[in-house]
Amino acid sequence: MRVPSATQLLDTWEGALAQPPAQRALSLLAAAEPELTHEALAALPLGQRDARLLRLRECLFGGQLQLVVPCPHCAQLIESQLGTADLVFDGEPAFAETHSVQSQGYALSVRPPASTDLIALAGEMDAGRARQRLLARCVLDARDPSGAAIPVGALPQRVLAELSTHMESADPGAVVELNFECPACHYSWPEVFDIAGFLWHEIHAWAQRTLRDVHVLARAYGWREADVLALSPTRRQIYLGLCRP
Ligand SMILES: [Zn+2]
Repeated sequence: MRVPSATQLLDTWEGALAQPPAQRALSLLAAAEPELTHEALAALPLGQRDARLLRLRECLFGGQLQLVVPCPHCAQLIESQLGTADLVFDGEPAFAETHSVQSQGYALSVRPPASTDLIALAGEMDAGRARQRLLARCVLDARDPSGAAIPVGALPQRVLAELSTHMESADPGAVVELNFECPACHYSWPEVFDIAGFLWHEIHAWAQRTLRDVHVLARAYGWREADVLALSPTRRQIYLGLCRP
């Protein structure tokens, strides 16, 4: 993994501003893994995509994450410290990428969801239909108990429910759930942690700060953007301190 320079990260941020979330995550990964094609990154199972995004986050901003979430019951803001090491699944996945599932006499060949699926389903507002379409994309072959091919939409509900549970365990790390308890009202609830959205917000805030620094130093010293971005963070902070009245 390459740690993007300040200039590369700013270019990536600017290019990704207008992109939908699933594309943004791929743009961030492409900046860190330029040897992989867009197609290869887009085909990574989401658990693997997120493990790579967590590594990129460690390289850029360190391994400690600060989360602030409102209590759904009393709206109290709760702060929580987490280590990236607590969030990344570092064991071997229980299944190969394409594998077989037997359920109620039905035989299915499935693959875990990837960015390509999120991009394809981005416009789908109905959660039930999105789930159905996702399964249709990820089930590569379905056979009924007689061995005849069957469309995913015709599978019994119990088979579909087992399939959903199975796909989550087949791609560990794709869904990270954190448990919170409110110190004020003691309400406890699970919250899904999305590293792609979290890292994007951090990079967005970093880009705003960086451009403000460029503005201040360019005005004070007549430097170009590239000159300011090439400074080490320590020197940049010292020069910024000298500019303050
Ligand atoms: Zn509360």
